[in-house]
Amino acid sequence: MNTKAIIHLSKLDHNLNAIDRRLKPGVRRMAVVKDDAYGHGLIPLSKHIQQRVEWLCVAHALEGKQLREAGITIPILVFEAPLEETASLYTDFNLTATLNEIDTLKVLLPGSEYQINIDTGMHRLGVLPGAVSKLVEEIPKYENLTCTGIYTHYFKADDPGNPEVKQQLELFKAARAQFPSEWMTHTANTGGIFHYGNLDLQFDAVRPGVCLYGFGAGEVDVPDLEPIMDIKSFLMQVKPVRKGEPVSYGGKWIASEDGFIGIIPTGYSDGIPRILTNSIKLKIGEKLYDQVGVISMDYTIVFLGSDQYPIGTEVYLLKGKELTATDWAKVAHTIPYEITTSIRERVKKIYL
Ligand SMILES: *Cc1c(COP(=O)(O)O)cnc(C)c1O
Repeated sequence: MNTKAIIHLSKLDHNLNAIDRRLKPGVRRMAVVKDDAYGHGLIPLSKHIQQRVEWLCVAHALEGKQLREAGITIPILVFEAPLEETASLYTDFNLTATLNEIDTLKVLLPGSEYQINIDTGMHRLGVLPGAVSKLVEEIPKYENLTCTGIYTHYFKADDPGNPEVKQQLELFKAARAQFPSEWMTHTANTGGIFHYGNLDLQFDAVRPGVCLYGFGAGEVDVPDLEPIMDIKSFLMQVKPVRKGEPVSYGGKWIASEDGFIGIIPTGYSDGIPRILTNSIKLKIGEKLYDQVGVISMDYTIVFLGSDQYPIGTEVYLLKGKELTATDWAKVAHTIPYEITTSIRERVKKIYL
């Protein structure tokens, strides 16, 4: 027995349907599977969705290599800037590079394909609009490189109706107009897809990330998305606790009544944030219980009140829409992206 992450591939399909419902006819899907598919497992997730999406996107060329070595053949876009030490991965593994600055033209090996990232306001990677005309002059000098697309990334699309999304879109369109019209064009992340149906920002393709895994971007709930990962552990020990007795390091929880506590063998070393201490619920059968006492490296404790369960009883830490990474993220002052990507390798993943 151990702590498991149960990944529901049927819910991934459900989330893909939710994306499809928002897409204009013919818009392609570039599924973002960076960082181990947001902690859900790069290869199994990608194998499952490759039938339903046209592209995969990763942060690092090495992730692209892993996908190819697993037999995935659909196009793969890599977001990071190619460097001398990674340049051969693009040609060896048929990966599409991103040109984030003009000098990338000198780094890419003959035969490479790339797409251009225009930095329209995110101020992370990407070519600044002011450098576009220079880039337009340089591109024809590199005849053995092929550009197939152009894109940008929104920094406030998680916030519906934010005027800066429209400003970025306008800046992007102006830059876009200076390049050949047949290049594939894409801008929308999860926020763009779900919160900006009113703007014409789908172009040829969209880049859904966190919505695949069941979360909307930002505060606004998207009811037709469903988290695909549950985390399940079990009661390793059950023991009585008396009113007034402290539990776990520092005695940060003191029993207010007599009852039972259950010790669950999972903790912050599995990626359960310690800051969730005394703030989350756990589910046993149909009942919710309070997590109590400091979450330690390998153990989390639940207060069972007067209920007694046998050793080995299943306990859910995350479960569908009832116990979510969004709940955890609120307590931990972060976003569900960081919660799911923090679940560690040693939590065994089971795909249903
Ligand atoms: C991560 C990322 C995405 C996906 O963003 P989500 O908010 O998870 O949908 C899309 N495009 C780029 C460039 C990214 O880095």
